[in-house]
Amino acid sequence: MKADKVVRSTCPFCGVGCQLLLSVRDERIFRVEAPFDAAPNFGRLCVKGRFGADFVVHPSRLTAPLIRRERQQPGKRTAATGPDDWREATWDEALDVVAERLLDLCARYGPDSITANACAKATNEDNYLLQKFLRQIIGTNNIDHCARLCHAGSVSGLQLAIGSSAMSNSIAEMEHLECFIVIGSNTAETHPVIATFLKQAVHQNGATLIVVDPRQTEMTRHADLWLRHQPGTDTALFNAMAHVIVKEDLYNRAFVAARTEGFSQYVESLEDKTPEWAEAITGVPADDIRRAARSYATAGAAAMYWGMGISQSTHGTDNTLTLTNLALMCGHLGRPGTGLNPLRGQNNVQGCSDAGGLPNVYTAYQPVDDDDVRHKFEETWLAPLPGKPGLTVTEMVDGILTGQVRGWYVMGENPLMSEPNLRHAQHAVEQLEFFVAQDIFFNETNVYADVILPAASFAEKDGTFTNSDRRVQRCRAAVPSPGIARPDWEIISDLARRCVGRLGKSPSAHFTQNADHLIEQWSYAHASDVWEEMRALTPDFYGITYERLEREGGVHWPCPTPEHPGTPYLFAEEFPSGRGKFWPVDYGSDSEQPDEDYPFILSTGRVLYHWHGGTMTRVSALDAIWPECTVEMHPNDAARLGLETGDWVELSSRRGAITARLLVTGRSPEGTIFIPFHFAEAAANVLTDNRVDERAKIPDYKVCGVRIARSTAPAGRAGADTLLTDRGTIKDPVVA
Ligand code: SF4
Repeated sequence: MKADKVVRSTCPFCGVGCQLLLSVRDERIFRVEAPFDAAPNFGRLCVKGRFGADFVVHPSRLTAPLIRRERQQPGKRTAATGPDDWREATWDEALDVVAERLLDLCARYGPDSITANACAKATNEDNYLLQKFLRQIIGTNNIDHCARLCHAGSVSGLQLAIGSSAMSNSIAEMEHLECFIVIGSNTAETHPVIATFLKQAVHQNGATLIVVDPRQTEMTRHADLWLRHQPGTDTALFNAMAHVIVKEDLYNRAFVAARTEGFSQYVESLEDKTPEWAEAITGVPADDIRRAARSYATAGAAAMYWGMGISQSTHGTDNTLTLTNLALMCGHLGRPGTGLNPLRGQNNVQGCSDAGGLPNVYTAYQPVDDDDVRHKFEETWLAPLPGKPGLTVTEMVDGILTGQVRGWYVMGENPLMSEPNLRHAQHAVEQLEFFVAQDIFFNETNVYADVILPAASFAEKDGTFTNSDRRVQRCRAAVPSPGIARPDWEIISDLARRCVGRLGKSPSAHFTQNADHLIEQWSYAHASDVWEEMRALTPDFYGITYERLEREGGVHWPCPTPEHPGTPYLFAEEFPSGRGKFWPVDYGSDSEQPDEDYPFILSTGRVLYHWHGGTMTRVSALDAIWPECTVEMHPNDAARLGLETGDWVELSSRRGAITARLLVTGRSPEGTIFIPFHFAEAAANVLTDNRVDERAKIPDYKVCGVRIARSTAPAGRAGADTLLTDRGTIKDPVVA
C-alpha cells in the first residue's frame, strides 16, 4: 500500500529507543519499519515495535474529558462501574474543576497535600511541565514516577558509589564487547534489540558472556557460563567474585590508586567471603564463581548489564554496590566496552527522571535542596520553590493513608497495577479527596478518578524521548488524536494558566505581581518551546536543540554546548563524585522468605509480547499471541502436586490470591514460581510484598512467599472491569 507520508519517530515500548518509520495513509498508521541507517537499532525491531502500534486506533481510547457524576468522598471513593458513572465535559469545564479542586486542597491542607505521578512513557517536555506545575504553581516537590518501582535500587547504589546512575555506555558499543555479564535481565524478551547486539558480540566477535540468573532465559543459551543462584543471594555471589579477584591479585592497582577510595577497608570485608561460603548460600559451584571472577577481571574490557532482577529488591542498593565494587576494582569503567549498565525499562524512564520527575531533583539531577540551583529555577519560574525533597511513589501511598496527602494527579501511570500489595494501594486510593488522571485509556487506577483528561499517544504528538543509553531522540506527530484528546504538555499548560489566573487574584504576592508573565510563560506554542526552556536551565542538555536532533537523529547527554558531540560513554576522566567509592556489603535479606504456609518463592517479570501493565499491548494485535497470565512451575514441583500444564491454579500470598493457568517448565528452578505482571485479571501485585529497600524505597517484586493449589476457571469480569477494554476487539491491526 502506498503511504501518504512516512514519519520517523521513537518506539513507545522499551528503553532501547528504537527508531521507527510510521507509514500513514488516510490518517492511519498501516506499517511500521525501522531505518537501516539510524542508531540505536539500525533497521532492527522486535515484535512489539513492529506489530504493537495498533493500540493507537483501539476503539476504547479516551476521546473527551470525563467528570464523575457523583462527587466522591474520602474513605468512600469507589471504582466507576460503567461509562454512565461519568459525563463528557468540555476542556474548559474539566480543567476548571481540576484547577479549583487542587487549589482548594492546597489552601486548606497546604501544598504538600498534593502529589503527582510523572510518566515514563510521556515525553521529556510533558514531564518537565508536570514537575514545573507541581513545584511552581502548587509549591511541592511531591512528584515521582515508576522509575522508583524498577531501577531505584540501581540509582541509589550507583549514586552512592560514583555519583551517577545513568547507563555508562552506549548501545553502539555492545557488538564489540570482549567480556560481559548479564545479571537479572531477561534481555531477549525485555530489551530484544539490545539482545541481538549482545548475541552478535558472542557469536560474531567471540565475546565471553556470563549470565547470572536463577531463571533460564534466552540469554543463558548463548552464555559461556551460567551462574544459577538462589533468588535473593546476589550480594553473596558478587562478594565471593571480589574475594577471588583480591586473593589472586587480579585487580587493577593503577585504577584503584588513581580513581577510587576505601579499597583497604573493602578488602578487609571480603576476607571470609570465599567461593565455598558463597556456594553454601547461592547454590553456585565455587569453581564457577572462580571462573566468572577470572574472566571478568582479566578481560581487557568488560561490561555489566542488569535488569530488575538486581534492583527490585529490599537489598537492591546493596546488589548494585557489589557490582560497582567489582567494576571499580578491575578498572572496567571509563572506556568503550566497559561500564555499569542498568537497562532501563519504559521508553522514556530515563528522560522522565532527567526532566525532573523525581522528588529530590530538578532537570538532570540538580538537587532541590541546593540553594544556588533552586534560586536559578526560582528566577526563571518567578516563584519561591520548596527546598525539601518530596514524597516517593511508595511514600505517597502511605501518605494518603496517614492523611498527609489529599489530592493525586496521575499522568499516564497505573499504580493499581504497578504498586506492590495492590489491596493496600487500593485502600489508599479510596481515601483520596480529589483524584485527577490523564491517560490514553481507562485503566485499573483511573476508574477511581474524579476527572479523567484524555491525552494524545506517542503517535499523535511532538516531543523528545531519552532512551536507556541517554540518547535524546524525537517523537513526531504522525496521525491526529482521537476526539478532542490533547498532548500532555498542552493539557498541563492550559491547567497552569487557569491556576495562575485564580492565584493572580489571591493574596500570594508573587502570583499577583507576576500573573501576566506567568501566563505568557505557560503559553508554549510547540513542544520545542518547552525544550528550549528546559535546556536553558540544564547544563547537561544545553547543546541539544531540535534543529540538531533533526540533523543528527539523536544526541547522548551530557552535551554542554552546541559544538559538543555528545557523550556515548561516561567517566573517561572522573566520576561525578570525584573518586569512585568502595562499599563493604554484608550478605543478608529482608525479603519475605518461603515457609510452611507459603512454601514457594514468587518472582515476577515480563514476556516478549507484552509491556508492563499491558495498557497498550493488551489492546494491540499482540494480545492474541499471549492472551493470559501463565504461572511457571518446575516439573518436579508440578509432579509432587499432581498438576499439569493448562490446569487452573490459585496462587496466594499473605496479601491476596489470583487464579491463572499453569505452565510446567524447567525455566524457573525448583521451589520458585514465576508469573508475568501484565495481566490485570491475574495481577501479580495482588501477591507481592510492599516492604522496601530503605535507601531506594523500591519494593521487593522478586522474592515473596506463595502457595499454590488446583482451582477452576475464574468467572467473567465485572464491576470496573466493564470499563476496561474489550481485550478481543482489535480493529485493523498494523500489518507490514
Ligand atoms: Fe521497541 Fe524495545 Fe522492541 Fe525496540 S526493542 S522495537 S524499543 S520494544
